[in-house]
Amino acid sequence: MTILMVGEKVAKYKMDYLMDEMTYIRKKGTLPRVEIIRVGQKEDARHYENAIKRKFDVLGIRHHESVFPEDVKQHEIIHFMKKTNDDPNIHGIILLRPLPKHLSEEKLTSMIAPEKDIEGTVPFNIGRLLYGEMDGLIACTPLAVMELLLYYEIMLLGANVVIVGHSSIVGKPLTMMLLNEGATVSTAHIHTKNLEEITSEADIVISATGKRGLITKKHIKNGAVVVDVGINVDQYGNVHGDVLFDEVIEKASYITPVPGGVGAVTTTMLASQVVKATKQALVKHKKS
Ligand code: NDP
Repeated sequence: MTILMVGEKVAKYKMDYLMDEMTYIRKKGTLPRVEIIRVGQKEDARHYENAIKRKFDVLGIRHHESVFPEDVKQHEIIHFMKKTNDDPNIHGIILLRPLPKHLSEEKLTSMIAPEKDIEGTVPFNIGRLLYGEMDGLIACTPLAVMELLLYYEIMLLGANVVIVGHSSIVGKPLTMMLLNEGATVSTAHIHTKNLEEITSEADIVISATGKRGLITKKHIKNGAVVVDVGINVDQYGNVHGDVLFDEVIEKASYITPVPGGVGAVTTTMLASQVVKATKQALVKHKKS
């Protein structure tokens, strides 16, 4: 029998823990606050932003949004970021993507103070992950995948894992996190030859490509764990994953649905990084 890995269950479990953490932070006289930076009015960025705000509201995390016009100059955002970095009342910074083409995502991301980088995208935090340190701030989507695997007690030590997709925000950090847990990881991408051959040997297949229907039952061995990170919205507004769920479910031992799998956990994991950043700021404040 295949077990459905239900994101809502994992998110609820994690939220209960975060509620306790928030009580502790409040007792210390602090309230976490996040600055959300958006450039322009892109619908997908706003959609994500609203989901984040709803999650923050449930936990009592304060948030403020700064919106810049589409033609904003890069130095204006840098100036704003410096001010935000220096403000001790702000614990986390989110730079919503995609950015307009004239702005350097790399440059602007690296401007965020590492201790406020709740999206885990600053090179310093990625470097910490590379060294196996879990104290730094980490990207929420790979964290959501790890939380799902942990909740469903999937054995990672010695497991053969194939991740399909090698982006900086999903595939690469996830590769490092799984290596840190003792898994043997292969990371596939657009130039990978014989994808089917590679994935069909794996104990765990994680797909994060945004290519609807890429992973079929031929890609999966009997009893494998299948995690689908992909989000593909069709012309009717329905959401689909990378995995052909109806046929893969026949072979998988565990599988995430889309929607209702990884996506249901990501905003909770982002909130967990705000809590982590705030607690670390409290410790730093006490020491100084
Ligand atoms: P990117 O577009 O940045 O990366 C996609 C990756 O998939 C690239 O590494 C690309 O390789 C690889 N890829 C594309 N086509 C193939 C293929 N045919 N075979 C093998 N590899 C392929 O996307 P993201 O990493 O940002 O996101 C991935 C998916 O996850 C998207 O659908 C996104 O919407 C979703 N997502 C879901 C979240 C959630 O909460 N559930 C959160 C964040 C993202 P190459 O670079 O070599 O072309």
